[in-house]
Amino acid sequence: MARPPAPATAPARRGPAHTRVRHGLSASFPSRPYAHRMGEFDLIQRYFMRNVATRVPLGVGDDCALLAPAPGMQLAVSSDMLVEGRHFLSTVDPARLGHKALAVNLSDLAACGAKPLAFTLALALPAVDEDWLAGFSRGLFALADAHDCELVGGDTTRGPLNICITVFGDVPAGTALLRSGARAGDDIWVSGTIGDARIALEVFRGRLSLPAEAFELARARMEQPAPRVALGMALRGIASSAVDISDGFLGDLGHVLGASRVGATVEADAAARCIALCAEDGPAAGLFDAQAQRGFALSGGDDYELAFTAPVSARAAVEAAGRASDTAVTRIGRIDAEPGLRVVDARGAPVSQRFDSFDHFA
Ligand SMILES: [Mg+2]
Repeated sequence: MARPPAPATAPARRGPAHTRVRHGLSASFPSRPYAHRMGEFDLIQRYFMRNVATRVPLGVGDDCALLAPAPGMQLAVSSDMLVEGRHFLSTVDPARLGHKALAVNLSDLAACGAKPLAFTLALALPAVDEDWLAGFSRGLFALADAHDCELVGGDTTRGPLNICITVFGDVPAGTALLRSGARAGDDIWVSGTIGDARIALEVFRGRLSLPAEAFELARARMEQPAPRVALGMALRGIASSAVDISDGFLGDLGHVLGASRVGATVEADAAARCIALCAEDGPAAGLFDAQAQRGFALSGGDDYELAFTAPVSARAAVEAAGRASDTAVTRIGRIDAEPGLRVVDARGAPVSQRFDSFDHFA
């Protein structure tokens, strides 16, 4: 893979520019500042190099990892970068951060219906903190192993904490879920629960307070999202379009509407019922009014659920895909031929509330 340019503040490298190691990770840590502690090679060896059997389609270990998709398959590739202060808080548990860094990437594969194969990791660290590295790599590999997704390369350098992962998956040619396939009359569905991560963020920002049990649930949803890989694969040939929810349901649905050249009507209260915290038996039941719940659900962000569309005739098939992947699926709207996005209440009356995400496609 191409290495990103070194940050302007990075100290000059000494000695060999890179130390190549067998599994494809290359290290660009300047060795001298850490000479009395852990060197670059040791860091990779200890935290990111593992004795696992490399799977067949992947050749590993030289200057590049070599990926050969099986006959009839297409490679699906996506990158996501997490920057401290923008995408995560400096106080986050490193194991959870390792999980999330990979989860947000796997979520993109899920949105395409692709099966994870491998990933690369580019990591900038301000200093070598072994406790942090141990936690980060533990969280990272726990999720990687759960999805049979192998680390095949990457880079490390000194710099402001920054984590960039590129994932590779495969999907039978012509079956990937796209944003452009939604058709007028299709149902709009959402997986799992939405809005909880936004509630956690509001607590961290000091704008809300929650009982301890509710906060822990919200925080887990924000810090440890579950990428819907199995559901995405199960929806091949059933869903007409899909996107994963990173910036907020309405904003991400807007990408589908734009690519498919259609409009939509979304039932705000049906979406609000997808907030785990606010469910009847949830730990924050009754704490937020309808307007607040609609906002959390529709413009919350950081959900990493799938928003997808499917023909009305496929309702039973969508529900079967949800059961097969052990993932809740909820119908919360429909695709319209008329452009634009309409948010309505349970009676079909327009909701006058303004949602952040409207700005993206007003
Ligand atoms: Mg995405």
